[in-house]
Formats: sequence, structure tokens, C-alpha cells
Amino acid sequence: MMPISPPSGRLLLAPQPVDAAPNCQKLQFELQALGLLGTQLTRSACDDTQPIAFTCGEQFFHFIAFTGCAVQLPNTSTTAATVPPCHLQLAGPTTHPRFFSGFNTRPPRCPVCGKAAIDWQQQIINWLENDNKPLLRCAACDYYQPGWQWQWGHHAGFGRVILSVEAIFPGEVMPLPALFMQLKTLTGYQWHWFSVSN
Ligand SMILES: [Zn+2]
Repeated sequence: MMPISPPSGRLLLAPQPVDAAPNCQKLQFELQALGLLGTQLTRSACDDTQPIAFTCGEQFFHFIAFTGCAVQLPNTSTTAATVPPCHLQLAGPTTHPRFFSGFNTRPPRCPVCGKAAIDWQQQIINWLENDNKPLLRCAACDYYQPGWQWQWGHHAGFGRVILSVEAIFPGEVMPLPALFMQLKTLTGYQWHWFSVSN
């Protein structure tokens, strides 16, 4: 019998457009007041390098749905002594949009011709090794624009501010309409979601 691996992935939400940078501390307090975020688990200030971890708040299930059949329910009463497997994080805003991908990420599709950039991973290595400009070129039509213009199908994404549900299987949790409505009301931005496996 195969051993069962612990959940290893994240659901991420980011505001749009990609350079949107809502006030993270204000958002933290508002999401705690709404009951999405619970107790703060890590002490660091919300800045561009250190995400803050939170327990799942009492209204967590009003905003996030579990879709799997073998669900380990998050413990909303966890104290700050340990970071539980399922928790939330809030990070940013970073100076530039950050890129998030995982083992589940598929080649993105060109927004002009629809062809997939099968060499996207090599192009990303080139970003990181050179000027860090996240440009992707389409081999089929020569479209050459930042990666956030490409279609990633919820399997990767960019953001300067990231709200995440941690330590879940990709696809195991889904954001509910109430979460998008609240994020739009609180920040003035539409938010989008994607999930990645570690
Ligand atoms: Zn193209």
C-alpha cells in the first residue's frame, strides 16, 4: 500500500492588475475582523520578505470550500505556539510582481495565437539569471510580453500581494464568491486565484 503524503501545496490569491499593491496591514486587520484570518502565528511585520501566518478564522468556511473527500479540517482554535498544517498567510506588497509556480504548472498559452510556450521553464531561468524581466516569447507568433499576460489556467500566477491557504493539495480547496466580493470591497481590486504544488 502506498504511503499517504501530507498535503503539499498552496492556494494563492492576488489582486489585479498585477502591479496592484493594497495596504497589507489594513487588509490583515479587515480579514481578521471578517473571521477569515484567525490568530496571528508569526510576529514579523507584513513586509515584502516575510509572510505572516494565521490560523483559519471562525468564518473560514464562509470564504473557502474544501472539495476533497478526505479532508483534514483546519483547527480554528490553535494557539500561536505552532503553525498548524492548514493555515493562511498574507505577504507583500513586494516591489515587483513575484511569480509562483509548482509541479502542477503547465506550459502557459499565448494570448494572441493560443500556442503553449513549452520552453517556459527555460525562459524563466533566463529571467532569473539575467535582468529579471519576466518576459516570455511565443515561438509560434513571436509575441513577447511579461509572463502575467499569458494564460496559466490557475496553475501559476503573479502578484505583489499574496493571500494564501497553505499546506493543501492543489484543487483541494476553492475560494468562494464571498471571498472575491470582500476582497474587492476592501481593496478596490478584483482578485484572481491559482494553486500550486510544492
Ligand atoms: Zn503566439
